[in-house]
Amino acid sequence: MSYDAIIIGAGLGGCAAAAALAGGGKKVIVLERMDRVGGRCSSQEREGFKLDMGSHFVVGCEHGAFEEGCRRVGREGVVKWHHVNNMVLKVENSALAFNMEKITVQTEGSDPIKINVAEGMQEMMSLMPRELMTMGLSMMGQMMPMVSAMIAPIAEQFDEVSIKQFMDQYLDWRKMRDILELVQFAAFGTPSWMTATSEMIRTVLGAMEYYKPGINPLELIGYPKGGLISIPQTMCEGIQEKGGEVRLNSNVRKVIIEGGRATGVELEDGEILKASLVISNAGIKETVAELVGEEHFDAEYTETIRKLVPGVSAFCLRAALDTKISDIDGGFGIAKGGLEDYYHKVWDEYLIPDCPPPIMYSIPSNMDPSLAPEGKQLVIAIGALMYESKEEFSKMEPLAMDAVEHVLPGFKDHIMWHDFLNPNTYITFGEYLAPAIGIAQCIGQIGNKRPSSMSPVPGLFYVGGEAGKNISGIATDMCTKVGLACADYILQNVLVTT
Ligand SMILES: Cc1cc2nc3c(=O)[nH]c(=O)nc-3n(C[C@H](O)[C@H](O)[C@H](O)COP(=O)(O)OP(=O)(O)OC[C@H]3O[C@@H](n4cnc5c(N)ncnc54)[C@H](O)[C@@H]3O)c2cc1C
Repeated sequence: MSYDAIIIGAGLGGCAAAAALAGGGKKVIVLERMDRVGGRCSSQEREGFKLDMGSHFVVGCEHGAFEEGCRRVGREGVVKWHHVNNMVLKVENSALAFNMEKITVQTEGSDPIKINVAEGMQEMMSLMPRELMTMGLSMMGQMMPMVSAMIAPIAEQFDEVSIKQFMDQYLDWRKMRDILELVQFAAFGTPSWMTATSEMIRTVLGAMEYYKPGINPLELIGYPKGGLISIPQTMCEGIQEKGGEVRLNSNVRKVIIEGGRATGVELEDGEILKASLVISNAGIKETVAELVGEEHFDAEYTETIRKLVPGVSAFCLRAALDTKISDIDGGFGIAKGGLEDYYHKVWDEYLIPDCPPPIMYSIPSNMDPSLAPEGKQLVIAIGALMYESKEEFSKMEPLAMDAVEHVLPGFKDHIMWHDFLNPNTYITFGEYLAPAIGIAQCIGQIGNKRPSSMSPVPGLFYVGGEAGKNISGIATDMCTKVGLACADYILQNVLVTT
């Protein structure tokens, strides 16, 4: 049996590419080595809880790339969303709690001027009726496409300017710098001295493009009902409805190259599948060196791929609680300030600092109660961890517990069980690194300098967090956009229906 396209890996990039091709009438097969779809955007069941593999909050929701991927296979509106509106940002002993009703500031300690500003905002917001606030946000949103068009050409000028350089020039409020450091690290997987300011600008502009008049811009950040796996699963159901195949437990061992082009794959059990083209979601370095073999590329190309810098990897602490200890959606926590030093230790020295790590956390069962048994709660927290750490990953586990206790007091007393995922969880091939997002969105690897989805080997393409020239965005959203863009290119230029 021969296919139009074989897709290696059912991560978001692979699923989106397969959905767009299947929706375009092409015969596709998705081969996934695991027993479930989604890769890093997946979920597992355990004792009545549904645990995500990593991702927390995503950008775009029903207005973005995920929905577009589902729409291509006739599954629009199937994924239901919780829109994030109830978060807490805690920096040392100061906390900023934000929801659609009000902003609450709780402080102990320094930065009195900033506190006054925030208190003023709180006062203002409490005076403002919710309808007025929603209207204001909606008006702001209507202007976004115009603002986006005006700013886009300027972004390029910041391709070589790091976020740290930008902060050094314009921001000397330490706590705000810490917040920005953590948020940008969570978004791009690189420390501020590596992340390009233009990537931040393009990402915000990209999110703005999802805005449609009439929606609340805050609807652009959310969490899918049923856990993160709902997104790739819905696409895969649609792919199958369109006649495509999705095979689990199917590890691809080799991409077959004949006459200089990709013509199929060989599975671990020796089965051979043939296709007009092969799309890999298995990582660009892994694909070139392991699945295809460097001998099929010229030396300059293999060297470029070898030198690509991956983003940071992550730990993921998942805890099942015997009761509900909080009603928020999640947030960010910094138990000990000075994040530049913290990330220097992690990123440059491959160490695990002796303090609670900065974290992003979520309470998925507050966003979808079906994710935990009645009366129980699920808490997930992530933070940066280097794959090549000089210290045992297990050193991070108690520190991560302390970090969650800092943002959710009483957390430790209510844990029924927990697990701790480390970078090894995310490795697909033994000797390769396991970045949380993909290759780093750092200076020299963004915009036009990002690797193309098209490989030099005819018939071979890459999707996911590893490729996609001129595509920016935050992790899951970006990977999905890369899959869709690659498939659209193929439909228009490679597998053209006459
Ligand atoms: C801890 C953590 C927290 C995160 N938090 C967020 C967040 O809050 N928001 C957000 O937007 N993003 C977040 N991300 C990032 C996001 O999950 C990833 O960027 C995104 O899911 C990667 O998608 P991908 O298309 O690159 O595919 P991947 O998820 O990398 O999937 C690739 C798939 O290919 C399969 N595969 C590999 N090799 C083979 C082979 N030889 N044969 C068959 N199959 C193969 C793998 O099993 C996998 O299923 C987080 C990631 C982690 C790890």
